[in-house]
Amino acid sequence: MTNVLLIHGGVGIDDNLVDAANIKLNYFASSVKLNGNPLDSAIEAVRMMEDDPEFNAGTGSVMRIDGSIQMDASVAIPGKFGSVLAIESVRNPVMVARDVMEMTPHTMLAGDGAVKFARLLGYEEYDPSTDRARNRLKVALENLKTPGSDSYAKYSKLMEKTDFNDFMKDSCDTVGAVARIDGKFAAAVSTGGASPMLRGRIGDSPVFGSGIYVGDKGAVVATGIGEEISKRLLCFRIHEKIGTKPLHDVMKEEISFFKNVIAGVIAVSADEYGYFANKGMGTGLKLE
Ligand code: ASP
Repeated sequence: MTNVLLIHGGVGIDDNLVDAANIKLNYFASSVKLNGNPLDSAIEAVRMMEDDPEFNAGTGSVMRIDGSIQMDASVAIPGKFGSVLAIESVRNPVMVARDVMEMTPHTMLAGDGAVKFARLLGYEEYDPSTDRARNRLKVALENLKTPGSDSYAKYSKLMEKTDFNDFMKDSCDTVGAVARIDGKFAAAVSTGGASPMLRGRIGDSPVFGSGIYVGDKGAVVATGIGEEISKRLLCFRIHEKIGTKPLHDVMKEEISFFKNVIAGVIAVSADEYGYFANKGMGTGLKLE
């Protein structure tokens, strides 16, 4: 059976940027080995994307509206799951998520507990901020303060209580990977979040069934507006429908429920793989 690694660089990019994103993502995918544990391959791909400042994960993560960076990441194989929520000051959240899965009795570690856990294991203090993220924050803050903008509407109740000058936006270039090696499945996801967002906000990416799911039928990972993805348990629903119709149709059907909300998924099953998104999304693929 063919081994598969399929990765994405986040939904929401302009259609004319997808080809360029695909070139980079195919390069990343092609440099990952597919001859061992599928989790190693999925994590290696996500780790490379976390280290690339162009993606909203690890280095390059977007900022919260208070200017801080809190990251979510998760990993899964059938029957096992680990995630970190709102972790700060580490270089590769996806690797800490794996440690949560493999070294603790827990599935999720949040905030300062996740940071302390990472330090205990020797993850060094690291600043993932970039000028691009700072500029994005500036734009986000402007939108927040512009009456009539979508962001203004979302935050209008809070605006009465908060000085948003203290705060920052924008983006959905989260990263994710699904793998099937020798018939075994794994998935990994990492994100700085979907801004504008408050400090403490958790998206779908570290929530099993929402932004990631791996079961006996396959592995699924999502990208897009986490609040909406979570409400629909998107990845769990896709996994449960695997085998009832072609994988592409399953993904298309589930994404069709997202009206005016960007969403995308990648998935691999025992005999298929594919992706579907309602806006531009770069992907990379390796088959072996
Ligand atoms: N789903 C991520 C979140 O809401 C963002 C993304 O996919 O870009 O945190």
